[in-house]
Amino acid sequence: MELDLKGKTALVTGSTKGIGKAIAWELAKEGANVIINGRNSQAVDEVVMEIKKQFPQTTPQAAAYDLSKEDERQKLFEAYPRVDILINNMGIFQPKDYFDITDELWQHFIDVNFYSGNALAKFYLPEMLSTDFGRIIFIASEEAIMPSGEMPQYSLTKTMNLSLAKSLSKLTKGTNVTVNTIMPGSTLTEGVQQMLVDMYSDTDIPESEWESDFMKNHRPLSQIQRLIRPEEIGRFAAFVSSPYARSFSGAALRLDGGLVPTIF
Ligand code: NAD
Repeated sequence: MELDLKGKTALVTGSTKGIGKAIAWELAKEGANVIINGRNSQAVDEVVMEIKKQFPQTTPQAAAYDLSKEDERQKLFEAYPRVDILINNMGIFQPKDYFDITDELWQHFIDVNFYSGNALAKFYLPEMLSTDFGRIIFIASEEAIMPSGEMPQYSLTKTMNLSLAKSLSKLTKGTNVTVNTIMPGSTLTEGVQQMLVDMYSDTDIPESEWESDFMKNHRPLSQIQRLIRPEEIGRFAAFVSSPYARSFSGAALRLDGGLVPTIF
């Protein structure tokens, strides 16, 4: 793809692995200068070096901060006062019975999955509006519109992402700034791979069949009957980040393999 992203600065939160890393990779492939974020500075530096080696014409940079913490966000803002593209990807998930969810856990999920992205958008959006270009993308989940009940404290925060993105998009009217949400379905990240190990390693099902068994029995509504690959989300997010995607605004973009049953 030629997406006209050369020289654009893109902050991808939670980009040391999984979907965030795949998005950063695809943005760098298109010539963007990506800012890699995670809490572990060694992991962040490793991804920066990998990207620099693969895409030497770009300038990837490191931002090792825990963005759920206000003082660490301030350090990020001092180090990187402006970005063209903000991908609010960072997020935590954990299956939990509703009656076991404490007030503290609800708050923790809201702080990490919702409030951090809100604080980043609030900081970076004004400059995007003044330069008349910017992209903010929230990575939500199909859980935002179809809570499974397996992790209510997670699903709620993903619905909050959708609502916030829509509200923020109202502030961009008539500009070349867009705010959207991407809703991936189940994606084969390291965390999901580990979940498959936990679910199947003690069974007779051979490893080559774990994914198809999981889809058949735990994601029966999926039309594609396979886990999505992180690079599929990465490529789509790179497109939505590009100047060519200016007509997406306040949209909730489904990338779920047809998991969410809708009439059309
Ligand atoms: P992951 O656990 O593989 O990666 C999460 C990243 O976030 C890591 O780089 C981690 O270091 C970073 N991170 C976590 N807490 C952080 C913090 N406080 N500060 C800075 N960085 C932090 O996750 P993933 O599966 O790639 O998911 C990424 C996003 O996609 C999440 O928002 C998740 O809800 C969403 N999502 C994932 C799936 C899936 O099936 N994997 C499906 C739908 C939506």
